[in-house]
Amino acid sequence: MSAVHAHPAVARSEPRWTHVDDHYVNGAWTRSTATARLPLVDPATGRTWGSVPDGSADDVDAALDAADRAFRTGPWPRTTPSQRAALLLRIADEVEARAAETASVNTLENGSPINETRGAAANAAGILRHVAGLASWLETEDVRPFPAGGAETVVRKDPVGPCVLIAPWNFPINLMVVKLAPALLAGCTVVMKPAPGTSLSIRFVVEACEAAGLPPGVVNLVTGGGDTGDRLVRHPRTAKVAFTGSTPVGRRIAAACGDLLRPVTLELGGKSSAIVLPDADLGQMSSALIRTCLRNTGQTCYISTRILAPSARYEEVVDMVTRTVAAAPQGDPFDEGTVFGPMASKAQYDVVRGHLESAHAEGARATTGGRPAETDQGWFIEPTVFADVTPDMRIAREEVFGPVLSILRYDGLDEAVALANDTSFGLGGVVFSADRASAQAVAERMDTGSVGVNFFGSNHNAPFGGRHDSGLGVEYGIEGLSQYVAFKSIHRRTG
Ligand code: NAD
Repeated sequence: MSAVHAHPAVARSEPRWTHVDDHYVNGAWTRSTATARLPLVDPATGRTWGSVPDGSADDVDAALDAADRAFRTGPWPRTTPSQRAALLLRIADEVEARAAETASVNTLENGSPINETRGAAANAAGILRHVAGLASWLETEDVRPFPAGGAETVVRKDPVGPCVLIAPWNFPINLMVVKLAPALLAGCTVVMKPAPGTSLSIRFVVEACEAAGLPPGVVNLVTGGGDTGDRLVRHPRTAKVAFTGSTPVGRRIAAACGDLLRPVTLELGGKSSAIVLPDADLGQMSSALIRTCLRNTGQTCYISTRILAPSARYEEVVDMVTRTVAAAPQGDPFDEGTVFGPMASKAQYDVVRGHLESAHAEGARATTGGRPAETDQGWFIEPTVFADVTPDMRIAREEVFGPVLSILRYDGLDEAVALANDTSFGLGGVVFSADRASAQAVAERMDTGSVGVNFFGSNHNAPFGGRHDSGLGVEYGIEGLSQYVAFKSIHRRTG
C-alpha cells in the first residue's frame, strides 16, 4: 500500500478572505448578527484557515426581505428576458476573470484537485452563457387557440418569486450557478446558502454579479449550517427552494415544502452502475474510468461506482480497474499531477472509513487500497477497488462518496439490467460497449435520470435529475429553466 505522494505542490497562496463576518444582502456586504461561527479547514492538512458566520434568524430575515423587496418593487423582474440575458453574459465574463482565485479557494476549502477546480469558473460561465441563450423561450409570445374555437389563451411564464438556493460542498460553484443562472433569467431574486465548509469560493460569483451591475437585492448570500438552511426553506417570503445535497436532508426539505405547498427541486444522492457489456473495449473503458466512476476523489453524485462485469470477463475487468485506479496519483490537491485528493472533511473521511470496514467485514476483496492512507496529515483514503462484491452488501447499495469502487458479477443482460435497477437511487449510469446500438438499448432499460455510453458528462442543453431517492425535478436545459417559472393562462375571446 502506498503512502500519499509528496509531489511539489502549487503554492497555497493566502486567500483574499479568511475570517469573514459578513453576508451579502441588498447589494452590500453586511455584518452578520450571528454569534456562532463555522470553521474553514484545509482537508489536505487539517489546518483551520478561516471561518464564516453561522447565519442567524435575523440574517435570514434580512436576506429574504431584500430578495422579496427586489422582486416586488425592484427593476429586475420587470426587465425583458433579453435584457436579463445580456446581464448574465456580463456575469459570465466577470466569473471567468476570477477563475484562478476561485480555483485556489475552492481547493483550499474542499480538497478537490486543482485540475478539477481550475475549470469551475469556466464551467459556471458556460452555464450562464447557455442559459442566456434560452431567453427566447421566455420571450416568445405563446398563444394557444381553444380547441372549440372562438377564444384563445396567452400562456405567460412569470418568475416564481424569491428563491432559496442551497448547495453542497463537492462542487460549490457549479451546483450553485446551475440554480442561479435560470433563476435570474426567469426574473427571480435569490438567497444563496453554500455548504458550511465551502462558504467562501461562492463570494467570487457574488462579486461577479455586483461587477456586472445586478440591481441590489437580486442576489443575496447567507452562510450557515442546517438550521440556517431550514429557516430559509420555511421562511414566509420564500417562493421556491432549489436544493442539492444528501437524500435524508432532501426528504426533510421536501416535507417542509410539501406542508407549505412550496415548489422545490431536489438533486440528491446516487449509487449509479457502470454496465460492462461482453464486447466492451477495456482499453477505452480504462481511459474513461476515473472521470466516469471516481471523479473528484469519488465525491460526485452521478458517478458509476458499481461496476457490473460479465462473469466471462470478470477477472479481466477487475484487473483493468485495479491497475487504472492504482496508477492514478493521490496527493496534495494543489499538485498539478494529483488525481485523488483528500476527503473534503473529517466527517466524510469517517463515513468512508465506515464503508471500508463494512466491505471488509462482509467479505469483499480489496484488490487495491482498502484503508485510510498512510499520512499523519489531512483526510486521505486510499483509492480502493473491491472485487467479489455481492448485491446485498452495504458497499453495493449505499452511496459512499469517496474513492471506492465495487465490482459485481452478472450472467446475461437481463441480470445486468436488474442489478443496475436494484438500488433505491436513480441518478446516473454508464454502459460500456463496442456497439453503440446495443449500448443504447441497455441504456434505455436503466431506471435512471441520465445514462452515458462509454462516457458520462452533463450537457447544459439537456435535463439532469434523479429518480426515486435521487431527487425531484431537473436542472439544465429548458426543463431546468422551467422550474423557476410560474405559468399563467390569460383567456380572451377572438373575433
Ligand atoms: P447535505 O445534505 O448534508 O448538505 C447540503 C446542504 O444542505 C448544505 O448547504 C447544508 O448546510 C444544507 N442543509 C443541511 N440540513 C439542512 C436542512 N434541514 N434544511 C436546509 N438545508 C440544510 O449534503 P452534503 O454532505 O453537503 O453533500 C453531499 C450530498 O450531496 C451527497 O449525497 C451527494 O450525492 C449529493 N449531491 C447530489 C447532486 C445531484 O445533482 N444530485 C450533486 C452533488 C451532490
